Amino acid sequence: MIDSNTQLYCIIGNPVRHSKSPAIHNAWFQQHHINAVYLAFEIDEVSKGVAALKTLNIQGASITIPFKESLMDHLDWIDDEALNIGAVNTIKIKNGKLLGYNTDHKAAISPLKPFGIKDKKVCIIGAGGAAQAVAYGIYKEKGNIVIINRDKIKGEKLALKYNADFIPMAKIDKLDDFSADIIINTTSIGMYPNVENMAFPSQYIKSHMVVMDIIYNPLKTKLLNLAHIKGCTTIGGLSMFMHQGVAQFKLWTGLTPDIDLMRRAMINGEN
Ligand code: NAP
Repeated sequence: MIDSNTQLYCIIGNPVRHSKSPAIHNAWFQQHHINAVYLAFEIDEVSKGVAALKTLNIQGASITIPFKESLMDHLDWIDDEALNIGAVNTIKIKNGKLLGYNTDHKAAISPLKPFGIKDKKVCIIGAGGAAQAVAYGIYKEKGNIVIINRDKIKGEKLALKYNADFIPMAKIDKLDDFSADIIINTTSIGMYPNVENMAFPSQYIKSHMVVMDIIYNPLKTKLLNLAHIKGCTTIGGLSMFMHQGVAQFKLWTGLTPDIDLMRRAMINGEN
């Protein structure tokens, strides 16, 4: 029951209406009889969003596009891994202080580990907040990274940090050939409602590749559908989403939530 003691959690981002986080965190709060609600706030200015978190005494927040990096300047404390990654996807508010964490990198890497990452050529498409976490995870597993990004400066900066090669997105389909062992799309290209868009040229997709798309709405992007048809191993964004959400709930409540309940909440709320 919502009453005057109900605690507030939220996700802040823009766009944010596609997010499944409210469905899953609210399902977990109910299951654990915690008097809390989780809402989605689409904001324009990160500084105003952070001020609102403090003013409204919000207990915790998930951070999504495009604020995972810009928000860091507004926090009181940042966990070492999030500092190394350069992106925060989770805030916990304790005694009025905003504490920043990153639950994305372990969540992204875990479904790839069974295929082996060490010494593999791993092509990461994107250089935003999620890409920072994915690149950090791949680097720690000793993969050889290639970054592809639209913005050259951001792409080169990320590549430099992880001793990686960089290819501007505008040039990728003009190469004679391109190959990698693992392809990971970390951009929002192909995300609902623009589901016909693809982040990687189809001509380079070969059956030996593991192709991962961290987008979870739709559950299977056009890139993954095409890779599946070509015989690749494919990994959707649901796995990463579930694991980063579990880690957030643990940080906020100290409880380990039920993954099956989350899966059901997500499938019921699908667009
Ligand atoms: P972000 O920080 O805003 O970064 C967005 C990235 O996408 C940048 O590399 C950007 O390139 C690129 N991009 C966006 N639109 C593009 C376009 N039209 N053409 C070319 N490149 C484009 O966002 P984020 O937080 O990293 O999130 C990115 C995606 O990952 C979102 O779809 C999000 O939902 C998903 N995600 C999923 C999970 C999960 O748990 N499964 C976790 C985190 C994020 P520029 O640098 O050139 O702008």
